[in-house]
Amino acid sequence: MKQKLVELEVRTHGHSEMVDITADVKRAAAESGIQNGIVVVFVPHTTAAVTINENADPDVKRDMLMELEKVVPWQDGYRHIEGNSAGHLKSSLTGASETLILEDGRLVLGTWQDIYFMEFDGPRTRHYFVKVLGE
Ligand code: ZN
Repeated sequence: MKQKLVELEVRTHGHSEMVDITADVKRAAAESGIQNGIVVVFVPHTTAAVTINENADPDVKRDMLMELEKVVPWQDGYRHIEGNSAGHLKSSLTGASETLILEDGRLVLGTWQDIYFMEFDGPRTRHYFVKVLGE
């Protein structure tokens, strides 16, 4: 089995934001030289996350961020001294990793699916890892 780890940077511009990282993940998988296996995208931050969702209508991103804000308001009597408890909660709700299938050199995604870096306490310069395992 072969393996490759890549660390990638993403610059966020909003307080909460969904950044499409699909092209970068595909490039990392292609440059690994691995044709068949598993691709793990991992976000090493406690107020960010990664998810897979619709790439067609940009209003889906807006609606997702809007509803997450309703479920976890920025101000809600939290005690955490740093003042970003909502970001921590959204990070855990969304999740720190996604596992994808790499088949014959192609990332398996649905027609309407893209991979999104989820910023919940930006803007910041963030990082994430792409690990490719396979043959
Ligand atoms: Zn904090």
